[in-house]
Amino acid sequence: MQVTKRTFLKGLLATAAAGGVVSQASAKPQADLPAKWDREADVVILGYGGAGASAVITAKDAGADVVIFEKTAQAAGADLWHMNALSCPLGLVVPGLKTALQINMLAPSYIYVDQDGKRFANEKMDNHTCIYGVNVLDPIKHRYPRIPCFVVFDEAARVRGPIIGGATSGYVLNRENYKWSKDNSAEIEKGVIVSAPTIEELAKKINVPAENLVETVNRWNSQINAGADKDFGRPLEKKGKVAFEGREAPVISRPIGDGPYYAAELYPTILNTQGGPRRNKLGQVLDPFGKPIARLYSAGELGSMWGHIYQGATNNSEACVFGRIAGRTVANETPWS
Ligand SMILES: Cc1cc2nc3c(=O)[nH]c(=O)nc-3n(C[C@H](O)[C@H](O)[C@H](O)COP(=O)(O)OP(=O)(O)OC[C@H]3O[C@@H](n4cnc5c(N)ncnc54)[C@H](O)[C@@H]3O)c2cc1C
Repeated sequence: MQVTKRTFLKGLLATAAAGGVVSQASAKPQADLPAKWDREADVVILGYGGAGASAVITAKDAGADVVIFEKTAQAAGADLWHMNALSCPLGLVVPGLKTALQINMLAPSYIYVDQDGKRFANEKMDNHTCIYGVNVLDPIKHRYPRIPCFVVFDEAARVRGPIIGGATSGYVLNRENYKWSKDNSAEIEKGVIVSAPTIEELAKKINVPAENLVETVNRWNSQINAGADKDFGRPLEKKGKVAFEGREAPVISRPIGDGPYYAAELYPTILNTQGGPRRNKLGQVLDPFGKPIARLYSAGELGSMWGHIYQGATNNSEACVFGRIAGRTVANETPWS
């Protein structure tokens, strides 16, 4: 049978209205099911995407009794929230490795520039929110001029230590056993970091306008020598306690000094996402009207209560706290008769 757009949409509505969609975790459709899972069906569909939905419609039109298993919460009528909230530092890609490494400059003589060779932010932006600093679309040239962007640094910064700082955890380090070289020389050899004797030549290697990069470096140096980053307010020194060397190094801003000079591409490197089904304080998943969906619960990062700005260390605590809350809510439910 041919499925037209009209029969497809009609079929989607009909199957949803009939409670035909069964989310793996959901209970909304389970109201239509026996308490014991001993239902028989002519056809079992796994996944309610385009292909699954088409198969359901065709099978139902052919008179079959169909049951669908679908893992997404929308299939059970859930509202979604925080779908564009990410915790996302900037990082480096080493060819051959499965994930990226976060940048963490140990020395203060560095800047970030975009593909036009210009600074665009205080480089000390909150590590978890860097995505908001780079995710800008150029509406004229239809490009993302900050993805990738570049870190530019001097010889003193190269010898100070790995530009991923003192990182000791993460998939690349713990699972892929990658060892970043102490003086960054191995990464220069691999081409992850490029080097040149002058800023002009460095600009050519990373394909940014040389006159812009020279001007940017000169401007940075003269402003820092004069005592303040007037463009973006990156401080000179960190006051108070330092939790992470580098990311919060006591000395934050210094002029870019003697060469050779170095640059590396930086990309958004996602740590975690906060989106998913919206929940209430009891861990019940809500529909778009704020009504709890019967016997559907959530906890943790999937549909996290945290919105745009990651609150340091709160994903793990939320996972533990809401795991307990949702567990308590479930335990207090009365059995279906
Ligand atoms: C590198 C890194 C550093 C982080 N640092 C911090 C930090 O310092 N502090 C902090 O608070 N948070 C941190 N986070 C975030 C935090 O670790 C997570 O938010 C938290 O672990 C999420 O817990 P969870 O139980 O919600 O999800 P997860 O730990 O992702 O658990 C989900 C589980 O479900 C399983 N699963 C998935 N699909 C299915 C399926 N269809 N069927 C059955 N099982 C399935 C997965 O295999 C997994 O075991 C970090 C995250 C990363 C990646």
